[in-house]
Amino acid sequence: MSSEYFRPSSIQEATRILEAQGKQAKVLAGGTDLVVLYRAGKVRPASVVSLNAIPGLNQLELTNKGLHLGALVTHQALLTTPEVVGRYSALADSARQFAGIQIRNLGTVGGNLCHASPSADMAPPLLVLNARAEIAGPKGTRVVELDQFFLGPNQTVLQPGEILAGLEVPAPGPASASIYLKQAVRGAMEIAMVGVAVGLSMANGRCREARIALGAVAPTPFRAREAEGLLKGQELTPELMIRAAEAAAREARPISDVRCSAEYRREMVKVFTRRALEQALRRARGGR
Ligand SMILES: Cc1cc2nc3c(=O)[nH]c(=O)nc-3n(C[C@H](O)[C@H](O)[C@H](O)COP(=O)(O)OP(=O)(O)OC[C@H]3O[C@@H](n4cnc5c(N)ncnc54)[C@H](O)[C@@H]3O)c2cc1C
Repeated sequence: MSSEYFRPSSIQEATRILEAQGKQAKVLAGGTDLVVLYRAGKVRPASVVSLNAIPGLNQLELTNKGLHLGALVTHQALLTTPEVVGRYSALADSARQFAGIQIRNLGTVGGNLCHASPSADMAPPLLVLNARAEIAGPKGTRVVELDQFFLGPNQTVLQPGEILAGLEVPAPGPASASIYLKQAVRGAMEIAMVGVAVGLSMANGRCREARIALGAVAPTPFRAREAEGLLKGQELTPELMIRAAEAAAREARPISDVRCSAEYRREMVKVFTRRALEQALRRARGGR
């Protein structure tokens, strides 16, 4: 069975087609997840709705308020935008560790989030940067905090007829920094066994706010809020960072799979959270 192909030229047209086609329709962005599944016979949508002819969806905009990412912004575009590398570093860290150049040029940030793999490399950085998802549907647009976006493996809050149109990322305050570390045997060429992002903002030598997000160690990427709570308002001593890393490991709900065991993942959350905190602190103090 072949799929019917649509190439709408506006968001409104896309959502109308998706609503009319119902659950049997699939959105196509870069195709680096969808086409792989299609070729493997794991998905056979009755219709495919490409977003690639919609003007503006691949735009990245920087304003005083922050960063706006259209859903079709590619991983490579993040990496080649100096302001992203400088101010939204966790996003650039993730893009740098994301597959090879071909996939980085095709794969989109929106596709990575909508595929909703527990190990999606863009999710932890966007979670610590407090991103909000702009969702367009037949009845208009709604905005959802990214930490409410994921419901389970390959499941999001998107309803039939809706697409992820873009992401709003607020500008980080002064003395802030973010970082993403990925644990994978073959580095960028492999899916994360563990992914840890940290966002820190400092004031008067103390931690004003800390955000920690974990990937690949639970059914969805998530914020480790108990660990974050230990750091807020405190001086970030090595001992405190170890305690926060241990708390993050307790919050993880990893599984054992072909890549590694649940025990190993939990241990790596501890190691990578501590490292990410140390490195984010260095960045917040002006180092790289
Ligand atoms: C060789 C290889 C290496 C990879 N390496 C990594 C890696 O290191 N890290 C990682 O996290 N992933 C990796 N991936 C997975 C994939 O490349 C990413 O998830 C990518 O960002 C998906 O984006 P896409 O635009 O290609 O999505 P698509 O394949 O076009 O779509 C993915 C899913 O999201 C839906 N979708 C896409 N865009 C939207 C939208 N705007 N609104 C609603 N639904 C939408 C589609 O219907 C589909 O279900 C890899 C894949 C391959 C083939």
